Amino acid sequence: MPASELSAWRRTLARHLLALVLAAVSGLALGHPWPALALAAIAMLGWHLWRLRRILARLAARRRPPPPRGNGAWDGLERLLRDAHDGLRGHRLRLLSLLRAYRAAADALPDAVVVLERNSQRVRWFNRAASHLLGLRAPQDTGAPLAQRLQPLQLAGWLSQGRHAEPIPDAPSPVSPDARLHLRLLPYSDELWLLVARDVSRVTRLEQMRRDFVANVSHELRTPLTVLHGYLDMLDPDRQPEWAPILREMQHQSQRMARLVEDLLTLSRLEAQDGIGEEEEVSMSSMLASLGREARALSQGRHTIDVVDEAGVDLLGSPRELHSAFSNLVSNAVRHTPSGGTIGIRFSRDGDGAVLAVRDTGCGIPAEHLPRLTERFYRVSTSRSRESGGTGLGLAIVKHVLQLHQARLGIESEVGRGSTFSCHFGAHRVIPRHGAGNGAQREQNPQQRHPPQEENRDHATGAGRGRPVAGPGALPQP
Ligand code: ADP
Repeated sequence: MPASELSAWRRTLARHLLALVLAAVSGLALGHPWPALALAAIAMLGWHLWRLRRILARLAARRRPPPPRGNGAWDGLERLLRDAHDGLRGHRLRLLSLLRAYRAAADALPDAVVVLERNSQRVRWFNRAASHLLGLRAPQDTGAPLAQRLQPLQLAGWLSQGRHAEPIPDAPSPVSPDARLHLRLLPYSDELWLLVARDVSRVTRLEQMRRDFVANVSHELRTPLTVLHGYLDMLDPDRQPEWAPILREMQHQSQRMARLVEDLLTLSRLEAQDGIGEEEEVSMSSMLASLGREARALSQGRHTIDVVDEAGVDLLGSPRELHSAFSNLVSNAVRHTPSGGTIGIRFSRDGDGAVLAVRDTGCGIPAEHLPRLTERFYRVSTSRSRESGGTGLGLAIVKHVLQLHQARLGIESEVGRGSTFSCHFGAHRVIPRHGAGNGAQREQNPQQRHPPQEENRDHATGAGRGRPVAGPGALPQP
């Protein structure tokens, strides 16, 4: 016990003893000591009960006790209660100001922030930006089911995915269809989730402008390039030996520019697509046969080409886009593998899905480059890519095509040993193959349920990345 409280208690004890002694002395003087003592004890008990009642009443009323006037044990108790009350009050005020500061900060955020109850998906709190981005109104929307409140946005299914919900990169705002939102769900506690909506209208508009610009420039370049290419083709270097090196270099460079323009147009077209449109059955036996032929044509006998078809299923998707993606991987494998190496093209099952893997025994890619490989114009070695006829857009095209098919690109590589690029398709992209056994096949005959892939191929698919072999004249005529 602290010294001040101990001395207060001692004082109270001394006063009580003094009162009892006085009562006993006066009782003796009057000849009735015991009744006098009993009266004094009753008076003391009454006083104690009165002080206790007073403290209980103050605590119940949650009032701040007044400063004690005496220096006895009860006054010490009142002083302690008053100090505890002051401490709690100060703590509450600090918490309150902290909460106000947090709310003010959340209100100042340009992003809409909505606190949701996890089970009921009802709105618990939202900031000011949520009013103009999501159209929520205070106080009537506090407690409202969010998915219902944000219609026509279809969020019920997304919200129910909870911590597995992938961000929605581009959704129309329920307030204005011109505004675009990026939505994220952050489950930050067991009971509460945070929905964060960011206005990405400007970024989306700029992105669209960039895409349009690239598509338009590429389109405008196509015709003059075709004309130049046509005239260059008419000049035979063998007939003019003094100009031969220059002519060959001009032809080589014009082919490179043409490939670049075609790849840019392909990327623009893929980016503009939301989905693959009408889905078709993609005959994988013809696809593999076609890829094998392309690989051999590009390799010109420098590599061993090994095509294995052991999936026994076909794919559902766009034959043209898929051929474009696979063909890019095959072209890369041939271009980045020195003579004498092996290129393996394998189509196999991957759980309920399927995987098409292109493996090579080429130079390989250092691990630090792998995460950025599918970015446009990202090259591990610029000079090597140019020498091998690359545009730096092949893997970007592959990524987009796979995204349109909800498929995933896997890359494994080891420097000096080779690389494996694999396209993983989900179960919903796999369909049974009609009229074919399930056993592994090597180099089978094309059984075409579609026009042959070579006929399907056009230059805008990017499938012509093996065009150095096809030679000049591969460009469409103006
Ligand atoms: P490029 O047209 O230059 O080949 P890509 O987008 O197809 O462009 O590939 C990007 C880069 O990835 C290439 O420049 C190359 O360095 C590297 N790359 C792609 N495929 C392979 C491969 N099979 N082996 C080694 N490096 C590769």
